Amino acid sequence: MTVADQTASLARANRILVTEGVLDAFGHVSVRVTDDPDRFLLARNMAPASVTADDVMEFDLDGRSEDERRPYLERFIHSEIYRARPDVMAVVHSHSPSVIPFGVCDVELRPVFHMAGFLADGVRRFEIRDEVGEGSDLLVRNGALGAALARTLADAPVALMRGHGSVAVAGSLELAVYRAIYTEKNAAIQCQAQAMGTVEYLTVGEGRAAAATNAGQVARAWDLWSRAAAEGP
Ligand SMILES: [Zn+2]
Repeated sequence: MTVADQTASLARANRILVTEGVLDAFGHVSVRVTDDPDRFLLARNMAPASVTADDVMEFDLDGRSEDERRPYLERFIHSEIYRARPDVMAVVHSHSPSVIPFGVCDVELRPVFHMAGFLADGVRRFEIRDEVGEGSDLLVRNGALGAALARTLADAPVALMRGHGSVAVAGSLELAVYRAIYTEKNAAIQCQAQAMGTVEYLTVGEGRAAAATNAGQVARAWDLWSRAAAEGP
């Protein structure tokens, strides 16, 4: 895939994630450059719903760019995860609302339906106080914090960021978008189910099997989400 094609897909991913309720005025999505794995693409500092291909900047793994437009403060989430995880080709960072409770309460986010089977091996929880104490603005605003988040994420698909949001990663842009959307949906459904009674979660075996099946179905979802995003919210 050319950088131009990746740039176009990234602009589309921004609009999809807004339409599907994962991003709002804040949050961002990036993709690693296929032919140059030490670089990644990320929009300039702006609301995701308005991102077009012209707004996409290219960064190295220190979060630096020759492009002088204003970057996102939290670009280090992306740069350090790409450095730590050669298998990761795309990263979504969001503050999607249903996920927030699982970062601040002593309740584990677990898969309640097959679409979120990728959660079966567990998600990680990042506590920024462990790095910078109690007075921070909670933002991952430098490489050291990005590296700490990447260490917490380890080999998981999702990390919760206490009092802030979450990050979802995958080996393709389409799958990272899928995971961000279904992390949000699973969190909302899990909250509802827990209010009703004792929840029967997917087993690890069920989750892994469902995730393997769904990974082959992502193109169908991407096509639908693209159409909805093109029509606008
Ligand atoms: Zn954030």
